Amino acid sequence: MGGARAAGASEQARSGGGQQRLVVRVRRTLGRVTTAPPPTVTLDSRFATELAEMAVPWRAEEAPEPRLLVLNEPLATELGLDPGWLRSVDGVRLLIGTAVPTGAAPVAQAYAGHQFGGYVPRLGDGRALLLGELVDPDGRVRDLHLKGSGRTPFARGGDGLAAVGPMLREYVVSQSMHALRIPTTRSLAVVATGRTVHRETPLPGAVLARVAASHLRVGSFQYARATGDVDLLRRLADHAIARHHPGAAGAERPYLALFEGVVAAQASLVARWMLVGFVHGVMNTDNMTISGETIDYGPCAFLDAFDPATVYSSIDHGGRYAYGNQPAMAEWDLARLAEALLPLLHDDQDRAVALAVESLGGFRRRFDAAWSAGMRAKLGLRADLDQAVVSPLVEDLLALLAASRVDFTSFFRVLAVAARGEAEPTRRRFLDPGAVDDWLTRWRALGPDPDGMDRVNPVYIPRNHLVEEALAAATDGDVDPLMRLLDAVTAPYDERPGLERHAAAAPPDFGTYRTFCGT
Ligand code: AMP
Ligand code: MG
Repeated sequence: MGGARAAGASEQARSGGGQQRLVVRVRRTLGRVTTAPPPTVTLDSRFATELAEMAVPWRAEEAPEPRLLVLNEPLATELGLDPGWLRSVDGVRLLIGTAVPTGAAPVAQAYAGHQFGGYVPRLGDGRALLLGELVDPDGRVRDLHLKGSGRTPFARGGDGLAAVGPMLREYVVSQSMHALRIPTTRSLAVVATGRTVHRETPLPGAVLARVAASHLRVGSFQYARATGDVDLLRRLADHAIARHHPGAAGAERPYLALFEGVVAAQASLVARWMLVGFVHGVMNTDNMTISGETIDYGPCAFLDAFDPATVYSSIDHGGRYAYGNQPAMAEWDLARLAEALLPLLHDDQDRAVALAVESLGGFRRRFDAAWSAGMRAKLGLRADLDQAVVSPLVEDLLALLAASRVDFTSFFRVLAVAARGEAEPTRRRFLDPGAVDDWLTRWRALGPDPDGMDRVNPVYIPRNHLVEEALAAATDGDVDPLMRLLDAVTAPYDERPGLERHAAAAPPDFGTYRTFCGT
């Protein structure tokens, strides 16, 4: 993939005052790597040390024939890692965990979780490893984590492995989310292992190297709480405050402030998902981060036609995680976080519950504010317009879109054309074009700004039919469609010639899309 290549002859990435340092020294010439001496990558082991009860020391499985499929060069550079070295034999071994930097302490993390509403006390990293924390050149601490690196003590019946297709899927969708300015874990690389993974059919195996603000989840707190060890719970909360919500440390009630920080981050995150038509698909409490980053791209997908009841996951029979249910489900997950935190909120548990309920009430308020502000921007409307005018306009539009099953993403770009004076392409999107005329008149009377609309409404998202096409080709060894898709979604707002297929709605014969998790 085209990406920034650092041009210096040597690089040294500094840590931001941590006790351990990330040091990368690579002698190289422009474009060609001359790796002598070998680089040293230093990883912290803060989680493993501070929360040893929740960390099982573990190693990745050997891979018969590792082959780098895709490397996120800009991200590598941002992390102070040399992309040229990461492409070398030793670099690839780091990316699958079979070569561990001296002093690093890889662990499988323990967590619990409510899966589709049912509590599972012991989930944990069944096929993943936290290699350690990287401190980037700006002092930001981030987890370096692997997915598909072999069975761990949390694997239960699973094989501990991952297939090329789903790992590339996480790569593409997380790249898209980042480009859409939505907080997300990042994908650093996908490496084919040369091992066969058995699903419905034999598939090529892969390891995804993932980078995250942390992998602390609501389920991490549920696990700590269930041990009955309040000291562990407090250490976990302190760790989370230090990494994600440092402002909470100075608050009158730091643990309540931590909870409020997570509520705010998730309300904003889920509003952003809704504004781009993202359906996460498996919002279990083990898949909700404390940092507010989107995590675990399993059965996720973007809406084609607008319909709040849309469900893609093959196992979500009840529609629990349907597009339109996502805010309510996030709130439900946060209530589980509040329960886990109760012993830290107040000595009197009745008071603790009252405090938690009050703070959780902030979710709706924050979500509604973020959603309304986002919809105004999508419609090109001024921020100072009366909410009493904007809200019904938004609601009426969504009802019209749903009634005609209009393609959600492309609609807002064609609507900008209407703001420039040409309404016909917008009208044609509706089964009865006349049905939208009244709405268009009301909207245009508010003076929408088409250029502002084009700055926030993407042209390119990872459309389901294109993702499937790209992954099938990549699984068969042809990565060209994947690279084209990545090219489109990593600059989602700039319409470019040659990418017309990537901007268009799914063909009518694409049918009902189904996604699978645990893949
Ligand atoms: P997920 O649905 O990906 O969030 O995973 C839920 C749980 O199942 C986590 O504890 C995972 O580590 C575990 N898991 C998923 N797939 C596998 C697998 N192939 N082998 C072992 N554990 C797995
Ligand atoms: Mg998960």
